[in-house]
Amino acid sequence: MAKTECSATLEGRDSQPYLPFSAPSFGPQEKAELIAALESDWVTTGPRTKRFEEEFAAMVGSQHAIAVNSCTAALHLAVRALNIGPGDVVITTPFTFCATANVVVHCGATPVFVDILPGTYNLDPSRLWEWAARGCHWNGSYLTVKGSGGRVRAVTAVDYAGQPCDMDEINEWAQHYHLAVIEDAAHAVGASYKGRSVGTLADLSCFSFYANKNMTTGEGGMLTTNHAGLAAQVRLLSLHGISRDAWKRYAQEGSWQYDVEQPGYKYNLTDLASAVGLHQLRKLPAFLARRRMIAAKYSSGLAGLPLILPSALSDRVHAWHLFPVQVTSSRISRNQLIKELKQRRIGTSVHFLPLHLTTYYQRAFGHKRGDFPVSEEVYDRILSLPLFPRMTDEDVDRVLAAMRDILAEP
Ligand SMILES: *Cc1c(COP(=O)(O)O)cnc(C)c1O
Repeated sequence: MAKTECSATLEGRDSQPYLPFSAPSFGPQEKAELIAALESDWVTTGPRTKRFEEEFAAMVGSQHAIAVNSCTAALHLAVRALNIGPGDVVITTPFTFCATANVVVHCGATPVFVDILPGTYNLDPSRLWEWAARGCHWNGSYLTVKGSGGRVRAVTAVDYAGQPCDMDEINEWAQHYHLAVIEDAAHAVGASYKGRSVGTLADLSCFSFYANKNMTTGEGGMLTTNHAGLAAQVRLLSLHGISRDAWKRYAQEGSWQYDVEQPGYKYNLTDLASAVGLHQLRKLPAFLARRRMIAAKYSSGLAGLPLILPSALSDRVHAWHLFPVQVTSSRISRNQLIKELKQRRIGTSVHFLPLHLTTYYQRAFGHKRGDFPVSEEVYDRILSLPLFPRMTDEDVDRVLAAMRDILAEP
């Protein structure tokens, strides 16, 4: 009894509720559709997933969209569909989530990192040219890495925080060296580049519907492509390599017959997840508008503090998955700022620990600190502020007041 009173008092004293770094937005539409899916008796991949794929492809403007159970699965299938395996190399940035490079390792290939641009934290196209000229042999039909002899096959461009990469420059480089382009668009659903939607800018584009992403199905992902052959291969590999999908097999008009063409994966998205996804997709424009508004409030409210604010380029539409700031104060470190925000019950996160600083990538590929100085310098100073559509203006003001309180120079 006394204990309860005591904790109630403590909670009462700290009147601020915890503001998380991210939270999903579900409404009655998702709930009703989920119940309808449950009551339809079709809970795994079926009619709702098909509709989700069609509506997603229409939103993006891509020929094909294949729903899978994560963006990691989409990235893995992208690399597999390109027939990338042992002896092959895929280029990406170290400033990404581990899935981007892990899937390359899963295929027996080697991820090679190229550093980022200091302004957008996206892959630096001029470094791609430098890296190929300095570290590779080009025989007029393919590019091999000096020393290892690994054959460069693809580049994975990561749209950091939701801002599209310099896709024209990356595509030009890839075309020059006969490479495929994969876009890790986990942050960038709804973004566009020079009037073209993310999802149509690369050979294969991979989206995430993880819990904290711009739209969510709990876990989920989507792969888009305009190549019919790659789409067919991705679809085949997404469900055991079975040549007819289960829905066709078990529906009344279907037949029991099937074949296993390849040892594929179990990466299909359920209709329960697609039920949620269908309505998240319809709400995406409103989610993005709210994210953009919060980002604008942050940008103006944080001006003048010892921070480097994210830069949004004028020729592309940013999806504002993250609002990353770099701390440049001489008095307070990034880690100290995170701690002080936490004391004020404000959640933050760090995107990303560069992959070349992780145990596995150091052990397996001999990386060390110093290898990718831009990624390292940014990583040392960066944190992501709370940003999600349900945040109120008061929540944003609370973050701004806390940031000013902690960071304002005397
Ligand atoms: C979240 C994320 C992924 C993985 O997405 P999942 O759907 O969780 O598999 C891949 N790449 C980046 C950059 C991400 O942020």
